[in-house]
Amino acid sequence: MHVSSPENCDIDILENGRTVKDVIDNKIKELGSMDNEEPFYVANLDSVYKRHLRWLTNLPRVKPFYAVKCNNTAAVLRLMSALDTGFDCASKAEIQMALSLGATPDKIIYAHTTKPLSHIKYACAHGVDMMTFDSEDELLKMSRCHAKAKLVLRIAVDDSKSLLKLSSKFGARLVSVGKLLERAGELGLDVIGVSFHVGCGCTEGSTFKQAIGDARHVFDIADLLGVQMRVLDIGGGFSAIGEFQEKFEEFSEVINGALDEFFPPDSGVQIIAEPGRYYVESAFTLAANVIARRIVSDDMDEHSDGEENSPGRIMYYLNDGVFGSLSCIVHDPAHPNYEPYLHRVVESSERRYRSVIWGPTCDSFDKVIDNYWIPELRVGDWLLLDNMGAYSVSATSDFNGFERAHIYPVVTAETWHALNLSHTFNNP
Ligand code: PLP
Repeated sequence: MHVSSPENCDIDILENGRTVKDVIDNKIKELGSMDNEEPFYVANLDSVYKRHLRWLTNLPRVKPFYAVKCNNTAAVLRLMSALDTGFDCASKAEIQMALSLGATPDKIIYAHTTKPLSHIKYACAHGVDMMTFDSEDELLKMSRCHAKAKLVLRIAVDDSKSLLKLSSKFGARLVSVGKLLERAGELGLDVIGVSFHVGCGCTEGSTFKQAIGDARHVFDIADLLGVQMRVLDIGGGFSAIGEFQEKFEEFSEVINGALDEFFPPDSGVQIIAEPGRYYVESAFTLAANVIARRIVSDDMDEHSDGEENSPGRIMYYLNDGVFGSLSCIVHDPAHPNYEPYLHRVVESSERRYRSVIWGPTCDSFDKVIDNYWIPELRVGDWLLLDNMGAYSVSATSDFNGFERAHIYPVVTAETWHALNLSHTFNNP
């Protein structure tokens, strides 16, 4: 069954045992019958829902504010709304989108410390009050454009154990927080709490403990200055795939321990977080089509036993790449290894060839994977990539005019009914 919602986000409800695999198979068949090879994602909303349940079990004190920047697919945002999460928005456009898809202003944190004035004004006009800052200049902007804002001071934390570091760009140093709080007081601004981000792909739970301890230190400085802080925002940086499979539970234990030590429940401090990747990473599968190939015979296949006519490297060209859904290859060190696999069934005994897989653009930078051993592909074959939900659809360009991958959201009938999603998806 298909349901259409106002922003043109059709959703496919899986009934009678239909699976995500069936949806992919059918879509490929359907596209084939129309001589259409557009790349596409299937977005499995059940996967997002399961992640949410896992979050609630492991971090019961921490309210998630989903980081829209990670994946701004309308169906994902609508589901988050139904799950009653908050939203972390980085710009006017993200605030606009969250509001249009069911979020209320009190459920949004404008979590960017360097905001254009016009975006602050937009937030103010739409009742979005909670926002982060890390400098005096930002305070001045706030006092000019949004004097009633509820400010959250972002601090820099040790992110040396994370794959993508953010504290080199954002966050006040601990030595400067006293001065910033005093300045906010002089300007009559309300600083309600502290935030940090340990970086993406955080590998050590102790990083969270240290950061929560640092935040406690800032709360203590605020106390001395007579500033009543009441929100702690522990940011993002969570993952639960690849090497992080079990780390989520491990980190949660450390976080819960640190919260109980530094911010016990009777402190009255509200704990929030800004998870992005954790929610969507495993929910999206990308299907891309082999649109061309070229055999480069100057380089012998290492597994050829010296056969004269064996191909060397085979170059394949997909219709999606580094300037499209796969830009995360370049800018996301926290993404697990890319392992495209063939949609059509191949025997495990089928010979594999050293291959290079390129994206479709005229740029040689557009390389998806090198030295990849894969059975021989034909033009028209489909390759699938799992775990493509994070920093993919939201970081895609139209470079060279190639179409963005279409997104087909699916959800099981059980989840659709359990969450009463007809209400969420049918309401403008
Ligand atoms: N919050 C802020 C301010 C960020 O910059 C980011 C990512 O860059 C996130 C949250 C989401 O981080 P993640 O996807 O690692 O959870």
